[in-house]
Amino acid sequence: TDLAGMLKDPSLLVTKAYVAGDWIDADDGATFEVTNPSRGDVICTVPDLGRAETARAIAAAEAAQKDWQARTAKERATILRRWFDLMMKNQDDLGTILSAEMGKALTEAKGEIAYGASFIEWFAEEGKRVYGETIPGHQPDKRLMVIRQPVGVVGAITPWNFPNAMITRKCGPALAAGCGFVSKPAGETPLSALAIAVLAERAGLPAGIFNVVTSSASADIGKEFCENPAVRKLTFTGSTEVGRILLNQASAQVMKCSMELGGNAPFIVFDDADLDAAVQGAIACKFRNNGQTCVCANRIYVQDGIYDAFAEKFAKAVSELNVGDGLDESTDLGPLITEKAMKKVEEHQEDATRKGGEVILGGKPHDLVGLYYEPTVIKNATQDMACATEETFGPFAPLFRFTDEEDVIAKANDTIFGLASYFYARDLSRVYKVAEALEYGIVGVNTGIISTEVAPFGGVKQSGLGREGSRHGIEDYLEMKYICMSV
Ligand code: ADP
Repeated sequence: TDLAGMLKDPSLLVTKAYVAGDWIDADDGATFEVTNPSRGDVICTVPDLGRAETARAIAAAEAAQKDWQARTAKERATILRRWFDLMMKNQDDLGTILSAEMGKALTEAKGEIAYGASFIEWFAEEGKRVYGETIPGHQPDKRLMVIRQPVGVVGAITPWNFPNAMITRKCGPALAAGCGFVSKPAGETPLSALAIAVLAERAGLPAGIFNVVTSSASADIGKEFCENPAVRKLTFTGSTEVGRILLNQASAQVMKCSMELGGNAPFIVFDDADLDAAVQGAIACKFRNNGQTCVCANRIYVQDGIYDAFAEKFAKAVSELNVGDGLDESTDLGPLITEKAMKKVEEHQEDATRKGGEVILGGKPHDLVGLYYEPTVIKNATQDMACATEETFGPFAPLFRFTDEEDVIAKANDTIFGLASYFYARDLSRVYKVAEALEYGIVGVNTGIISTEVAPFGGVKQSGLGREGSRHGIEDYLEMKYICMSV
């Protein structure tokens, strides 16, 4: 993949890490490869940093934060706004870089750039509204007030499925609040992080305030974040498994943590739903990013009365999706990210078939050589199948049949996860009842797409801690200080 050759501005493709305002190699010169999952070839190598370079990034963030937090919120907002503008101006190139390293369809990749940039714009504005409060005193001479201050240096660890937006969701509020920031992007997708660092520099973010540590030794970087006393906050998006490890490690310093972890989203279609809308919503929800998002429908429950009609229309619409190279304009669904991801889909497929599932579309690796799997729909899915309890994270849609409302709510809630959920219904009292009964941080009603920077995104149960986006999203990067004055 000649990625530089595809860019209007090839200087956005960088192969150095960004630490303390410098573009650096690893101390020992080590590198690791970045591949294009659509084509299976190597795009370039990037520096493989370790704890020493990470410690330098943290020290730089701590030093830069002194001046950064002392500026007015408006000054910070002006720079962040410029960063947002530059991201949008370079949307095509950033989308191409993203698609090349991650594989998602180019239109979706460009969409992610706009989505990712929106967090910078939103929080630039929100930073101006970090209000405190005054409290009537508890004694005649007392005057009480509360101010809110930046939490301190933030360490961020993010996954490969949204190489841009998972970072901007975190650094937007962190930088707006006045924190220094060290990003450790996923090893699969460091290039999008480095590209926005180029734009950060152009926007005038001071040296050291935003760092990108590229590394294949993620556990080492996680340890440095948790053990370095200058880091005051850990923000993570990824698997529940790794989230648990990090929460454990973070306990050593009693560090503030935000965790966006796994999901197992139910998507429920009731008899009174608008069938065509439900089919469209299910497709958007299940096949976004080729099924590789933590809010993708994992289990589709359809009520008896419309089960067969839904299955037929759904499978037909899915069969029209184009599978191919992410960088190809006509592609709807790109490849999966890795062999391991392919295996997981195959396992869920085989397990479902063994337990009585009926394949009505797809059901095997795609004829295209590489990491491509046919978009798959199975009927007669049951609760004992692996796909009922584990996130498939791929283009595999199991259709469960249900009769009773109470029963489907119980099934939907029968999971350790609680991130996103969805349902289609038109009866108003049902809509209220079901929305309130679902034990999830997010409920989509008659829609399959819920992500926006203006709303609080986050999960309950083992799906995480904290919220990203909305006016609440900046809270995770602030500490409250109570000031008690005697006059
Ligand atoms: P995914 O399945 O999306 O790769 P992971 O939770 O494995 O989810 O990875 C999410 C991020 O966490 C990636 O940046 C990865 O490099 C990082 N990571 C994986 N294991 C650890 C660990 N033990 N400590 C710190 N970070 C880790």
